[in-house]
Amino acid sequence: MGYNVAIDGPAGAGKSTIAKLVAKKKGYIYVDTGAMYRGLAIHFLDQGIHAQETDKVIKACQNAQVTIRYEEGVQQVYLNGKNITSRLREEEVGNMASVTSAIPEVRAKLLELQQNLAHTQDVIMDGRDIGTCVLPNADVKVFLTASVETRAKRRYQELQEKGIACDLEEIKSDIQERDHRDMTREIAPLKQAEDAYLVDSSDMTIDEVVDAIVELCK
Ligand code: C5P
Repeated sequence: MGYNVAIDGPAGAGKSTIAKLVAKKKGYIYVDTGAMYRGLAIHFLDQGIHAQETDKVIKACQNAQVTIRYEEGVQQVYLNGKNITSRLREEEVGNMASVTSAIPEVRAKLLELQQNLAHTQDVIMDGRDIGTCVLPNADVKVFLTASVETRAKRRYQELQEKGIACDLEEIKSDIQERDHRDMTREIAPLKQAEDAYLVDSSDMTIDEVVDAIVELCK
């Protein structure tokens, strides 16, 4: 069994930024489970399926193979043998992933892949249900959050830096909608595990959050 660190939290809390830095400092492999849901979402989009067409989504799961490889330490997501990593962050992919991740068959499809990765190596894995469902025996669990305002501002800045036009209020309501979907779904809802440390990064720098988590690890 590898050493396992679980980081859960809402959209835009900085999980991936923080987890990547902790991984580097501690020599763990960073596993981004959101990217796996996004990988399946690309499959559904490419098949012309709409997010609400649950039956079609479930059927399409049968011929989707998501695999993960690490190239120079960076996670690459393959869908049926094709590297689709560059498409993962597209807006429509995120929306599709957010809706379809509530479907039990979609979650079941990815659970084993996630558990196998953690079983054989030292990982820091981020997502929504890692500490509660995927790795309930993780060595360290962190629930990383920040206020909606802070998360929306961070996302706004990120998009501005990329030269993408955006509206702060729209981003804020999109984040609230995603939080609501993740927290109220029946299967594996987003919630803090009882034995998770709560880290609110609203008024913390990236380095402060990284140091706080490194401190918790062996
Ligand atoms: O974290 P990220 O935004 O990449 O995740 C995409 C979507 O996948 C989220 O909106 C969330 O609904 C879902 N997800 C999940 N469980 C995870 C990781 C992500 O339901 N462990």
